[in-house]
Amino acid sequence: MVQGHTRQGVEVSKAQQDLVLLVRLQGVYDSIAASIAERNSPPPEIRELQEASRLRQEELVEMERQLTAHESEITEVRRKQAEWELELQHFQKQKSAVTNEREFTAVISEIDYANKAIEETGARCRELEAAMEQLGREIAERRAAQGVEEGTHSEIVAAWDRRKEELLKRVHELSAQAKAIEAEIQPKHRARFLRLLESKGGRAMSEVVEGSCSLCHFALRPHLQQRVRRCEEIIDCEHCHRILYTEESLTRSVGETVDV
Ligand SMILES: [Zn+2]
Repeated sequence: MVQGHTRQGVEVSKAQQDLVLLVRLQGVYDSIAASIAERNSPPPEIRELQEASRLRQEELVEMERQLTAHESEITEVRRKQAEWELELQHFQKQKSAVTNEREFTAVISEIDYANKAIEETGARCRELEAAMEQLGREIAERRAAQGVEEGTHSEIVAAWDRRKEELLKRVHELSAQAKAIEAEIQPKHRARFLRLLESKGGRAMSEVVEGSCSLCHFALRPHLQQRVRRCEEIIDCEHCHRILYTEESLTRSVGETVDV
């Protein structure tokens, strides 16, 4: 009888100890989540810079793509122009060897056609050359402006980089804290907590406030409320299954009698 009571007393204190640790652990995981969220949401001035830089980069890529397209087109046009020049030479030679009016008319028509083609390809070449020169100039200007722009905002960017670094360090420190607390908790309670943390969007613990689970607002039956207050075991919310606690039962010294 005495032995049974003692064993129960030990279990009570262990459950309460675990509950205290679980609430502390939830606090550490909340801080980890907050640090990660801050790290993933750059301040507006950084977002604006990133957006502007992304747009400039896209435009630059598009201009370079156009320049490359012009380069391949001009190569093709020059090749055609050279072909037409050969044709022209060929017909000019033929012209001197014609024997009748009909042949003469035919060869003249070919020469006209070739001349026209040479003129057209030449015009296209000049168009492309002008466009390429313009693009090349704009690309160079934009690249130079980009460097100046980045230099102007380098302090803002550097400050955000430092903040991200701090947050990362904080996450590592908090993770170490979490591991240390987890090591103190009974494995079955630790496993239950971690499963809930995963499945409940980072919130495994819920305080009972005015007889209800503060997260899902499910009203606890009086008997369950008593069990939560007694702190002799880990109690789940019947609705959202999170681990329930009351501030009062956590701060009560171990072994103190509960008036229920
Ligand atoms: Zn609940």
